[in-house]
Amino acid sequence: MENELILRSGAKIKQMESAEAAERKYLTRHTLSQMHLMPTGDPVAYDVSPSGDIIYYFDPSRVSEAPPETWYFPNARRESMTLPSGSIIERMSIKNAATRGYYTESRLKNMHYEVIEEPVAYTYKADKSILYFYDKKTAKRLPLMCVQCGKAIRYKKKLCEACYEKEMEIKRAEGNAYRASFFNMDRAKVLFFDLELTGFYDRDEILSITIVDGFGNMIMDTLVKPVRIKSWKKTEKIHGIYPSMVENAPTMDELIPELIRIFDGAENVIAYGVSTDYSHIKYIYTDAAERENFHKKIRCCANEFVRYAHENRPDIVHASLTDAMSCFEIEWEGVAHSSIADTLGCRKVWEALFPNYYKN
Ligand SMILES: [Zn+2]
Repeated sequence: MENELILRSGAKIKQMESAEAAERKYLTRHTLSQMHLMPTGDPVAYDVSPSGDIIYYFDPSRVSEAPPETWYFPNARRESMTLPSGSIIERMSIKNAATRGYYTESRLKNMHYEVIEEPVAYTYKADKSILYFYDKKTAKRLPLMCVQCGKAIRYKKKLCEACYEKEMEIKRAEGNAYRASFFNMDRAKVLFFDLELTGFYDRDEILSITIVDGFGNMIMDTLVKPVRIKSWKKTEKIHGIYPSMVENAPTMDELIPELIRIFDGAENVIAYGVSTDYSHIKYIYTDAAERENFHKKIRCCANEFVRYAHENRPDIVHASLTDAMSCFEIEWEGVAHSSIADTLGCRKVWEALFPNYYKN
């Protein structure tokens, strides 16, 4: 029969009879301390004393000299006692023990450690009963408990699986109630839009605009000719819009009256990751109050997806439009990352998130 013990480091050590340990020149903690040495590494084997405690064996090549204040003098006036296993342990104060990393069983339990080795020192309690100290280094680390019920082992977010699932259920119910509170929208006044840009910064210009309504009707789908920027090598491969393609396209200035007419008639204007799109489209309104009014209609489909995913699919860690579409098993219509395909994808994700959104 071969018994094994897994140490906190993950190392596995075998149970060994004292004769074999002696043959291998392994030393117990007790022998080491008589030689004024202390182990520097994990134990290499163990045995179980008649009283059921573990006695570790250490490799003599992995030891260091013990600090003089911890030396064990068999003939000194220091008090010691002999354990049933034959190990001699020394009396020391709680404070002294703590400086060596020795603690009482209850203290270790509070620190989530379980005592398996025999005691390494002791003291007397006020009532003269013996209080043993154990080495924290060789104690067994216990699994952390759920912060809510305190009974089961932690699973996620410091909670056990049951408490975690209960909390997720509450979150889902809250999210569902929130999403159900948006209803009775007029499909004709719900717009989805997407822009393609020359780059990722505020100074970049719009290259294409797609707008569809809640029926899926195409309201606008146009290329846009930038007026300042003439080439956009970094982004042309992403959206597939090259300078030659926009040469005869209208400029933003030419499109603004039409865009204002479209957005003025809308109640909800939705895009996926709307902040970039908004920061470029908002310039169609020059008046601060008009711009503010437009901002109030803006909804971000990505934000809503993130909330939904937190509540329902904690396994999803990314929230791109592609991730949202695959979450709801929505297929791309047209070429991904063109403004038209992104707008159609956004609309379908939104409708999956808000199943009762429309009145008609
Ligand atoms: Zn729990």
